[in-house]
Amino acid sequence: MHELGLVSGVLETVTTAAREAGALRVISVKLRIGDLCEAVPESLDFAWEVLSEEDPLTAGSKLVVEDVHPRSRCLGCGAEFDHDRFHVRCPQCGSSATSLLAGRELEIVSMEVDLP
Ligand SMILES: [Zn+2]
Repeated sequence: MHELGLVSGVLETVTTAAREAGALRVISVKLRIGDLCEAVPESLDFAWEVLSEEDPLTAGSKLVVEDVHPRSRCLGCGAEFDHDRFHVRCPQCGSSATSLLAGRELEIVSMEVDLP
């Protein structure tokens, strides 16, 4: 399950940042995940539940996920358009030469912690 690796990486970043800030506990973490990461929300929740329990700092914390839909720019005519994971074709000129602008991100937007 690729979500386990994904969540484990996020948790590593989160616990490091929380420790550096002197936090007592992580309350929630907000992520932005592009559709092209192909992360299944249920699997993410499950992975988070299992892995966050391993560290007292993150035990009981909540994961909030914000989906990012894929968006590309046409290299032919410059139009920007939203699309799904499988069909990337410019709606203006029909070209399939495009460059991805969004949809592959995996970033921590914010985290909420308890400070002493
Ligand atoms: Zn075009």
